[in-house]
Amino acid sequence: MDEFTYRDGSLWCEGVSLTSVANRFGTPTYVYSANTLIDHYRRFAKAFDAVNPLICFSAKALSNVHLLRLLGQEGAGIDAVSGGELHRATVAGIDPERTVLAGVGKSEDELRDAVRRKIRCINVESEAEVELLSRIAREEGERPRLAIRVNPDVAPDQRTPARTTTGTRGGKFGVDIERAAALFAHAAADRSLRIEGFHVHLGSPIFDPQVYATALDRLLGLVARLEAEGHRITTLNLGGGFPAEYVDRTAPSWDDFAEVIVHRLAGFRRGGGQVIFEPGRTIAANAGILLSTVRYLKQAGDQQLAVIDAGMTHLARAAMYDSYHFMWPVLPPAEAVPVSRDVSGLAGLTAYDVVGPICESSDYLARGRSLPVLAAGDHLAIFTAGAYGMTMTSNYNSQLRPAEVLVQGDQVTLVRRRETYADLVALELLDTSDHRDG
Ligand SMILES: *Cc1c(COP(=O)(O)O)cnc(C)c1O
Repeated sequence: MDEFTYRDGSLWCEGVSLTSVANRFGTPTYVYSANTLIDHYRRFAKAFDAVNPLICFSAKALSNVHLLRLLGQEGAGIDAVSGGELHRATVAGIDPERTVLAGVGKSEDELRDAVRRKIRCINVESEAEVELLSRIAREEGERPRLAIRVNPDVAPDQRTPARTTTGTRGGKFGVDIERAAALFAHAAADRSLRIEGFHVHLGSPIFDPQVYATALDRLLGLVARLEAEGHRITTLNLGGGFPAEYVDRTAPSWDDFAEVIVHRLAGFRRGGGQVIFEPGRTIAANAGILLSTVRYLKQAGDQQLAVIDAGMTHLARAAMYDSYHFMWPVLPPAEAVPVSRDVSGLAGLTAYDVVGPICESSDYLARGRSLPVLAAGDHLAIFTAGAYGMTMTSNYNSQLRPAEVLVQGDQVTLVRRRETYADLVALELLDTSDHRDG
């Protein structure tokens, strides 16, 4: 599944010991396995190769340009949700023909930027955005390609958190499906635009393949209706949302998703249609860990607390979504070397609340978690942190963002240096004489 494995009693990433990474680069540090990232991308692509999709990796899951470039070399494109992510795609050398842009609140500048870059598809989310894009297209003398992001009103399964559900009625994303055909026809009549099809993104993570089947059937109904009116639909973008394994063997495989999706698209493909996917989490989550160090152990009431150097500013998911992240010492006692994430059979475990250094009571990475007995200075690996880890970090409490390290085989590369105190204040213009009114 991934290349973070315990060997000779300690944790390795591919051919590199994580003790050596912690000693060399300090903590907290994100460590990525290049081979895991590439392997996940290839296996996702293989599962869907019958529909020959364009796979646009979702940059908001993991946006370091070194990793985007690695995926680009494998043939991946980029799904951007801002001008900043379009810029990252360019820096990473991603072909605009393989770049798509989504977002419910794109600015005029962001749309203009996408038009000038001639990207593969702009996924618009409202009637008003179509009007703005049309004006920009005329001003720029371009004919941008677009798709309409549809809200198919499909509820994800019970395990998709409400806070990451995006395709249900009344939500802020996309255009209600019953208005999508009229908007398509309106855009098709606009000679400054090239309307190509539809986009959905249902939420994340989605564990039930049937959710995709339901949404896709609604989209195909829309396609059939428009084709009967003489329109041609050439792009269907099914978004991302495919799950990652946070625990052990709880998520369906990519083949399970392909099984319900691929055959439904056969007719669309025969007509020459292009299918797009935008996976993020499913490719990147298990390709990265957050390496941290235990600072203090203390007792609070009946609880044992482990205070570590990584908190909600370094990995927001637990505080934000109550997400579960498996964590384990890099160098556990001999009797507590895990062979899977099911550690219930291991001896000598203690329940800890694992907390970060942030002055905020939601700064818990785990509560009552069974771990080997910890000591100050132990390195603790927080797994499945490659997606929505570094990209959601902040400087709250004037914390410094972590370093990012890329491992490939026995090669270790620092791909983002740790922030410094100078970085913290660099934008705050200590000399304000040029920026004062009056
Ligand atoms: C976030 C996002 C994705 C990726 O979601 P994952 O769950 O990481 O696969 C894809 N498309 C859009 C439009 C998104 O906003």
